[in-house]
Amino acid sequence: MKKHYSVIIVGGGQAGLAISYCLKNRGIDHLVLEKHHIAYSWQQKRWDTFCLVTPNWQCTLPGYHYQGDDPEGFMGRDAIVAYIKDYAQSFNPPIKEDVEVFSVSKKPTSSLFELDTSLGSLTADRVVIATGSYHRAKIPRMAEKFASDIVQIHSADYKNSEALPPGEVLVVGSGQSGCQIAEDLHLAGRKVHLCVGGAPRSPRKYRGKDVVDWLDRLGYYNLTVDSHPDKENVRKKTNHYVTGRGGGREIDLRTFATQGMQLYGSLNDISGENLEFKSN
Ligand SMILES: Cc1cc2nc3c(=O)[nH]c(=O)nc-3n(C[C@H](O)[C@H](O)[C@H](O)COP(=O)(O)OP(=O)(O)OC[C@H]3O[C@@H](n4cnc5c(N)ncnc54)[C@H](O)[C@@H]3O)c2cc1C
Repeated sequence: MKKHYSVIIVGGGQAGLAISYCLKNRGIDHLVLEKHHIAYSWQQKRWDTFCLVTPNWQCTLPGYHYQGDDPEGFMGRDAIVAYIKDYAQSFNPPIKEDVEVFSVSKKPTSSLFELDTSLGSLTADRVVIATGSYHRAKIPRMAEKFASDIVQIHSADYKNSEALPPGEVLVVGSGQSGCQIAEDLHLAGRKVHLCVGGAPRSPRKYRGKDVVDWLDRLGYYNLTVDSHPDKENVRKKTNHYVTGRGGGREIDLRTFATQGMQLYGSLNDISGENLEFKSN
């Protein structure tokens, strides 16, 4: 195996693959290093009933636009994984799976990047970090105050209702994941308690068009952080909660409440068996 490449891409998700596609088209020698396998995040870090929130027509990877017969629909987890794997197959990227990059460094005296990897040392003229986001679970310290016999999991590890011990479930957080998981548990017949935060709700459709259509037509996806009226603050904004499940629909927490879901403000503190909620 070569030890030097013009470009090394760290991460074989959709971003790493898309860059590989573009480099390959330009005849630039490169290597993609993937810690697990292609489409790992979608395959391993999503629940069983997971669906895209964004419509299928928005899947426009370079050279591989969505070709299915349901552009207005929302792919489920396994279809997304297949789409990304098929993309890789369509252009055969130079990828090594099961290879972790531990560090990337550059000596002031050298023009080369050095990568310490589970395959050994490699060098590159350029490095693209395509490791994605959301890889580290953000768990508030207060979670340590729950009694040790209460099973706690992060949304990235949630699979389905059956995989949880029997009983009532507290979902902390009402962003897209929290609301969709609360809905999944509710539909599975669990008694759900949901701590609601500041994420706004949104209609799925307005005047017959999906909310993502509207954002697209209004040019929202072309706005850079610099040109956004809220500038840097926009990074901290939570997405509106909707779901692609069942062909796409709104999530209406008020309706869930009438069906028995218990809604609270944000979780503020835990002491013994008592939970304290904010009044938001
Ligand atoms: C719950 C949830 C729902 C989402 N829903 C949608 C949606 O509906 N529509 C949408 O467009 N987006 C959605 N997203 C966002 C979407 O998943 C990401 O934007 C997308 O996966 C980013 O692609 P990526 O290639 O940058 O990162 P990833 O897909 O995360 O790929 C990064 C890859 O890098 C690898 N890697 C990490 N560290 C290393 C290392 N040190 N060495 C080697 N490899 C490494 C990982 O194994 C991984 O395979 C959702 C995200 C989450 C968490």
